[in-house]
Amino acid sequence: MEPIFLADHPALDLLNTTSRIGGQLVDQLQSDADVLRWLALADIPVPARAPSPAGSLLADTRLLRETLRTLVEKRKAHKHGNPDLLNEFLARSKSHPHLVWDKASEPRLEHRRKQETPRQILGPLANAAAELLVDGDFNLIRTCEDPTCVLWFYDHTKSHHRRWCSMATCGNRHKVAAYRQRQAQA
Ligand SMILES: [Zn+2]
Repeated sequence: MEPIFLADHPALDLLNTTSRIGGQLVDQLQSDADVLRWLALADIPVPARAPSPAGSLLADTRLLRETLRTLVEKRKAHKHGNPDLLNEFLARSKSHPHLVWDKASEPRLEHRRKQETPRQILGPLANAAAELLVDGDFNLIRTCEDPTCVLWFYDHTKSHHRRWCSMATCGNRHKVAAYRQRQAQA
């Protein structure tokens, strides 16, 4: 199955790697390779190969995901969340400035990071998660209106009336159901 990127925020897209398909919760991340592929699709730099031991990247990604899920749910409910675990990820996320000066261009600073351990690899994602909790507008961070759907999104539409994870799935299902109801009443 293809990963879905519809949340308009990488940290929420991470939450959405768990989705409900035919009533079942399905985890799209089943291996280190799945995680690397997902990170690349999310435009997050990835190392050439998964770190050792095998399975550690998957385990840490799931841990980060479920930690973030709790924090997002707490934030959404105006409750206090415990940031300790997310802070452990942030503490391992180290980048350093690197001066790039090509012959053809002006000097510029890039931020380079080590990618030897799972938590170093997940650093940009942990960072995006923390920024979301700090700066995100939680009036616009919502779950899909379909009660059986678990997907999150950040409503960046102009009208801020986004209701569905996707018009192609939940939005369309709702439209069809509403149409049938109108037909039944007519
Ligand atoms: Zn949905």
